[in-house]
Amino acid sequence: MHDTAFMNKKILCGLTVEEMFSLIEPAGFERRHALFIANAIYKKRISLLTRLPKISKALIQFLDEIASAGLYNPKASEISADKAVKYLFSSPDGKYFETVYMPDNKRNTVCVSTQSGCRMGCPFCVTGRYGYHGNLTAGDIINQVLSIPEAANVNHVVFMGMGEPLDNPGNVLQACKILTAEWGLAISPGNVTVSTVGITPGVKSFLEASECNLTISLYSPFAMERAGVIPAEKRYPAAEILEMMRNYPKRKKRRFSVAYVMIESVNDSDRHLEGLKKMLGGSGIRVNLLPYHPVKNNVYASSTAEKMQHFKHELVTSGISASVRKSRGADISAACGLLASGFIK
Ligand code: SF4
Repeated sequence: MHDTAFMNKKILCGLTVEEMFSLIEPAGFERRHALFIANAIYKKRISLLTRLPKISKALIQFLDEIASAGLYNPKASEISADKAVKYLFSSPDGKYFETVYMPDNKRNTVCVSTQSGCRMGCPFCVTGRYGYHGNLTAGDIINQVLSIPEAANVNHVVFMGMGEPLDNPGNVLQACKILTAEWGLAISPGNVTVSTVGITPGVKSFLEASECNLTISLYSPFAMERAGVIPAEKRYPAAEILEMMRNYPKRKKRRFSVAYVMIESVNDSDRHLEGLKKMLGGSGIRVNLLPYHPVKNNVYASSTAEKMQHFKHELVTSGISASVRKSRGADISAACGLLASGFIK
């Protein structure tokens, strides 16, 4: 269903300040006015243009006729035992997607979706089973940070919700630009992470055009095994992408990492450990070890906590930075690979 309030109007959330300026310049307004608008939407989260502060009546009237702020609230929410909150959004053009807010002392993270569903077809992932219902716009992505009730507390953003971010690179890069710009949400690029299964052209443009962090989901250091769980491996081998990350000039605050979801008796053997060491040794790429969340009609289980610690210890002692990450929101289907199994079926 389409939201008629946004129809035929230019949506401002998702535009850069320069794009806002080109919208108002023909009517005689200046760049400083575009900065006021960006400030009101991205910092003050004002959803009604008639409430924009510090702006002349003429500009308010002009904007109100041609544009909409483009902010819209979630339709539903669910809270987990560990205080993660999952939100269901429906975009103005009727696409459904989910967002997860994860508070953790001073680190408050929003996990955003970049597509409604996903077309990568990874067999273990519930989001993939939902099918592909289209790309989200940069405005839809930014709105997930601005329109949750905890928006004022957010200081980290991860692109790890529904969809493969680098299958929608234009909107993801635009969203990263707005999240990190001074005139935008002004979040440090070191606090924004894009997580991908690895789409080589998308990785290349992301490395060049953004300062944000990049994580690749690995599942196995062996190409044939990986292709069985991540079909994208056949076209875009992880080894090729890791080589690009390894050779990319390092910047102080930018982190490159591998997400390794550990599945008992599938990818947690000594052979896998040795494969990881061989693949990542000397690369400067860190490893995040994550528990696997069993999904319905699936025989797999997570590796034990002891096995995960063993992997961490072995990687660290061979010179590879590694950590065991806890997973949040599993009880409300808000953890990695589980989105679209709660509100959306
Ligand atoms: S794991 Fe990621 S890329 Fe694969 S189907 Fe799920 S959302 Fe898509």
